[in-house]
Amino acid sequence: MGYCPDCGVEYAAAVAACPRCRVVLTADPPPGPRSLEPEVVHRVPDAAAGALLCGVLEHHGIRAVLRSATLPGYGTVRRDWSTSAWGEIMVARRDAAEARAVIADYLGALERGGQVRDEDVEGG
Ligand SMILES: [Zn+2]
Repeated sequence: MGYCPDCGVEYAAAVAACPRCRVVLTADPPPGPRSLEPEVVHRVPDAAAGALLCGVLEHHGIRAVLRSATLPGYGTVRRDWSTSAWGEIMVARRDAAEARAVIADYLGALERGGQVRDEDVEGG
């Protein structure tokens, strides 16, 4: 058996790498409870958008990590060829549903008309 160190999914012995995360599997399951495993909740086009949305999540008490899709040491080679996004926002699995709702609210507020008021990001 192999485990993806990124998403924690378990694969049969014949599988060498996680097709979703494109990382080589490890023999041992990732440490920590599954509820704390990172999950991608949103993809962002650039660093500024990522930092902004991470700030919104932190404001709601959700610890968010911004991960660039580019491989360190490989210049502009994309880590994930299925998306043109610059990077992705990750939160603990237990916070994923709330994080998605917060981001949807925030983006919805932006679409409704330019200015984002405090009420929009406070979440009521
Ligand atoms: Zn994976």
